[in-house]
Amino acid sequence: MTPHFSDGELMCKCGCELLPEQDFMDKIEALRVAYGRSMTVTSAARCPEYNAKVSGTGRTGPHTTGRAIDIAIDRKAAWELLSLAVQFGFTGIGVQQKGGGRFLHFDDLPNAPGQPRPTIWSY
Ligand SMILES: [Zn+2]
Repeated sequence: MTPHFSDGELMCKCGCELLPEQDFMDKIEALRVAYGRSMTVTSAARCPEYNAKVSGTGRTGPHTTGRAIDIAIDRKAAWELLSLAVQFGFTGIGVQQKGGGRFLHFDDLPNAPGQPRPTIWSY
């Protein structure tokens, strides 16, 4: 979808081949270029059915909008990427930095009822 991110790593993992929104990935690409190092995607686009299987948000939630991505990252690198993400205007930031499977979630959703933005949460 962009110079640093392939369709395969971004599409829904259920096999439906749903991809994120191109303009969202263009923003993630700009973040990647500023960061200057590889970013490992653990989840990007999710269809409602797949999201209901893997997330407490059920058939909705940020990943079903095509405007959310999870990046496997921890410690100093996580701090560096998170600070850049704030500068780049990402409005939803999720932080999982405990135990194994550490990652950061980024989305750029607008403020809406039931979806406060900007915000930050932990898992
Ligand atoms: Zn799917």
